Amino acid sequence: MNRVTELIDELFEKKNLSKEDFIFLINHRSEEAAQYLFEKAGIRRRENFGNGIYIRGIVEFSSYCRCDCFYCGLRRSNQHCERYRLSREDILQCCRSGYEYGFRTFVLQSGEDLTYSDDDICDIVRQIKQEMPDCAVTLSIGEKSFESYQKYYDAGADRYLLRHETASPELYKRLHPSGQTLENRIRCLYDLKKIGYQVGAGMMIQAPYQTAEDLAEDFVFLKQLEPDMIGVGPFIPHRDTPFRDFSAGSLELTLFVLGILRCMFPKVLLPSTTALGTIDPAGREKGVLAGGNVIMPNLSPQRVRGKYLLYNNKLTSSDDARGSVENLRNRMETIGCEVVISRGDAPGKGPH
Ligand code: SAH
Repeated sequence: MNRVTELIDELFEKKNLSKEDFIFLINHRSEEAAQYLFEKAGIRRRENFGNGIYIRGIVEFSSYCRCDCFYCGLRRSNQHCERYRLSREDILQCCRSGYEYGFRTFVLQSGEDLTYSDDDICDIVRQIKQEMPDCAVTLSIGEKSFESYQKYYDAGADRYLLRHETASPELYKRLHPSGQTLENRIRCLYDLKKIGYQVGAGMMIQAPYQTAEDLAEDFVFLKQLEPDMIGVGPFIPHRDTPFRDFSAGSLELTLFVLGILRCMFPKVLLPSTTALGTIDPAGREKGVLAGGNVIMPNLSPQRVRGKYLLYNNKLTSSDDARGSVENLRNRMETIGCEVVISRGDAPGKGPH
């Protein structure tokens, strides 16, 4: 047995790998190793989730952003980004139609748009929970103070997605302007955990300048944080950002990372992301077969779907909520999986 297979076995047995081991694994991976990894990951996924795939309806409610991340199409400096905001009523309407077709988790995501006060966010969360008490609300609205996170939680928010983007301080600096720090990002993640949220971190694969060392650092960081969810997708360039000339991350490495994560964290909620579906037409199915167990279709109103462009060619379906769930159901059946209608909490966690 070679060293790569040995390392995969160790991951599968939940042994902690060192940073050097992760670097070795990434640098010496092969197609055969990937197949072996995905088998192991599949075992862990089925042990914990059977053939069920959780779905979350994502409502991208504002494309305004005060941040200036070099990779993101919504960055403040992008003059070409068409900005929009949804009203509370618009957002509720998206959730209501999503509910009808089986969504029991709504992810409210936006740029960092300070036009919505903490009270506005709390109102929206409260109203969704009041109308649809059997649903979970996930927020993904960026870096805030402990107090703000606490208010949203008290209003009923269940989960929070905030990718750490990279755990390497040097790489973080190359991806963000100087006012945005890894330190604060990590502070936010630990605050969210402390408050009681189900917390999601994550990173892009093959972001500009990212090395195997950087990815290894992400694995080590994630092991410390022990998040409930991990969002991972390939970097994809956007033409109106400083990273326009970099290539997109590969399907192959993204799937390999998903497989590693499923073995490391058997119970984690692991989305097969839109970015994965964007670089390959069957990307989301492949993501599930590599270990993913969550899919997050878009519930935003048709008129704004083309405007929340984190990267170019973003997969936007013309389907409404009903169409997108039916479509997903069929796609998941082709790989022996089944879309589940439930909140889909992290194992052992639930409503608070
Ligand atoms: N403002 C929120 C939401 C950010 S957008 C927050 O700060 O969390 C959600 C995720 O999209 C980001 O965390 C980032 O990892 C990803 N993303 C942004 N630009 C991208 C690009 N060019 N390619 C791939 N993923 C990108």
